[in-house]
Formats: sequence, C-alpha cells, structure tokens
Amino acid sequence: MKAIRVAEPGGPEVLRWEDVPVPTPNEGEALVRIEAAGVNFIDVYFRTGQYKAALPVTLGMEGAGIVEAVGPGVRDVSPGDRVGSVNFAGSYAELSTARAERLVKIPEGVSTRQAAAALLQGMTAHYLTHATYRLRAGEFCLVHAGAGGVGLLLCQIGRRIGARVIATAGGPDKERLAREAGAEETIDYRTKNVAEEVRRITDGKGVRVVYDSVGKDTFEGSLDSLGVRGTLALFGQSSGKVPPIDPQVLNTKGSLFLTRPTLAHYVAMPEELAERSGEILRSIPSGDLSIKIFREIPMADAAEAHRLLEGRKTSGKLLLIP
Ligand code: NDP
Repeated sequence: MKAIRVAEPGGPEVLRWEDVPVPTPNEGEALVRIEAAGVNFIDVYFRTGQYKAALPVTLGMEGAGIVEAVGPGVRDVSPGDRVGSVNFAGSYAELSTARAERLVKIPEGVSTRQAAAALLQGMTAHYLTHATYRLRAGEFCLVHAGAGGVGLLLCQIGRRIGARVIATAGGPDKERLAREAGAEETIDYRTKNVAEEVRRITDGKGVRVVYDSVGKDTFEGSLDSLGVRGTLALFGQSSGKVPPIDPQVLNTKGSLFLTRPTLAHYVAMPEELAERSGEILRSIPSGDLSIKIFREIPMADAAEAHRLLEGRKTSGKLLLIP
C-alpha cells in the first residue's frame, strides 16, 4: 500500500508518497480502508517538526472509510462498516489503523467524504462553543479566520445559537464567505485594527469571547477586543506561536480568562466523542451545518494541499483522496 511519509522535518517537499507494509490491527484496533483524509493545520506542525513525532512517520489524523479488518477484542465495529476518526495512526494512507473505541460510525445521509471533512474541525467548533466558553443567544463573539475550516463552522454554529458573530478574514472574498456562513459583521484583519472595529461594533463593550486560531498576529488584538471578564480561547497558531505573557496583563485588561484548549481533552471520554461527533454528523443531513469542501486533491499530491493551507489560499476543508 501507499502512504505519505515524512522522513525529516521540512517544507511541503518532504512529503513522499511511498510503499509501506499494510498495518496489522492489534488488540482493540481496526484496520480501515481510507476513502478520504482530512487535511489539518496540525499535520503541518508535525511536518515542520514544530510538534514532535518519531520519524519516519505517516502523516494525518483525520479520515473516513470502510473497516477492512479488526483486531482481537473488537466488538463495536466490524468489516464493512463506514467509519471516521480523528485518531488514525496516519490517515494520509490507503489503509490505516485506529483504536476501535476512537472510531465513529457514519450515519446514513452523510457521505464518507463529508465525514472526513467534518469530524475534526466540526468537533472543535462544537467544544469551543459548548464547553470552553458556552456561547449564548444575543452575545457578541469574535471568530478569527472566519473563512477557514474551523472558522466557517464557528460562524454557522454561533448563528444557530443566536449569538452575534463578528469574524475576521483576509480580504473581501473571505469576508463574504464568513458572512454567508453566519457572521453579522466582518473585519479584514490585514488592513483594519481589529480591537478598534470590535469596540465600534459593540458600542465600546467588547465581545464576551474570542475564538482565536491565528495566534501570534492576532493575540494582542484579541485581548483588546474582550469586555470585562471575557474569555480568550486561543486554540491555534496559524501565524506562529504567541510569546510568553505576564498574567498581570489579564488583570489590567479586565480580569480576563485565557485558555489554550485542544480537541483531545474535549473528546477524551467515549461519551463525549459520541455526543460531539453525533451532533456534528447529524446536523449535515438536517441542513443545520453546511460542510464546505474547498478542494479534493489526490493523496499523492499532499504537498500541494499543504502549500495551499500554509499560503492562506483555502477557505473550508481540504481532502486527500487515495
Ligand atoms: P484554516 O482553514 O483556518 O486555515 C488557516 C487560516 O488562518 C488561513 O486560511 C488564513 O485565513 C489564516 N491565517 C492568518 N494568518 C496566517 C498565516 N500567517 N499563515 C497561514 N494562515 C494564516 O485552518 P484550520 O481550520 O484547519 O485550523 C485553524 C487553526 O486551528 C490551526 O492553527 C489549527 O492548528 C487550529 N486547530 C486547533 C484545534 C484545537 O483543538 N486546539 C483543532 C483544530 C484546529 P485568512 O486568509 O482569512 O487570514
């Protein structure tokens, strides 16, 4: 079988489409024939070495496909089941394994590709709005990169809750996409001062929560956009790592809350995984959530997908098709 492997950290050119042995599912694991793998920014961090993995490594965590075989002790899934997961041991591959308890059955009315596109970013938008800071109707929130994969879903979920979503985006085309997804106001953060715009829109009050996936370039503006006792959910670093801060800053800017959450800790319990994945996947056929697949790219060309994502050329989801 073929897989996208990284032997040494580096740019997109280090991604190689290579022959590797078919993995054998161990106790509690399932072997899945991948029909689509989701591309996520975390894959870039593993490729560049910003996040560490033992090399060589098969890249990718998210994917969906058909169970091919199961290891000893697996009862919940069987060969032929249509499943997805955000915990594959390398989803940029024709076949991959995952712990069976980390697999999610794909309901009728949801295509395998939609599941591969929705699970990771969808469950992220879900935990951010339902658990990290429980967004309520009528409240202002700020979503950075509102036309991105997670961003478009945050705009949609925010609107469904009845919150007033302000989204940032890089340029007029992306601003339009964020508005179509549910943002009431948008700010081109390449040309405008975000905190000033937010104060204007909220009559000086600031927002209750900022969902910030951009990191280095947006962090200061995020703190300055919050109202008293507001929450900054810093959940990504597309522009780079935020430098260390003095906690006293949170006092002077209004007794703010700062958290750096990650999906793994919000789907650690099997019930949480079932609840979040179920709500996201069920909201696709019901029409509550629209999954924007930006492009489907042959898996062998994974480097192209990474160039697009890092080059800010995408809006919505990139899928790799083996
Ligand atoms: P996006 O689709 O949001 O892509 C990144 C977007 O960020 C770009 O399109 C761009 O939008 C914006 N951006 C701003 N500055 C930069 C920069 N310097 N370089 C690249 N992009 C930039 O990606 P995802 O939705 O997949 O992920 C967004 C972030 O969320 C990532 O940092 C990811 O790691 C994180 N994440 C965190 C999770 C968690 O649980 N903590 C889970 C899932 C994702 P524009 O052109 O509009 O500026």
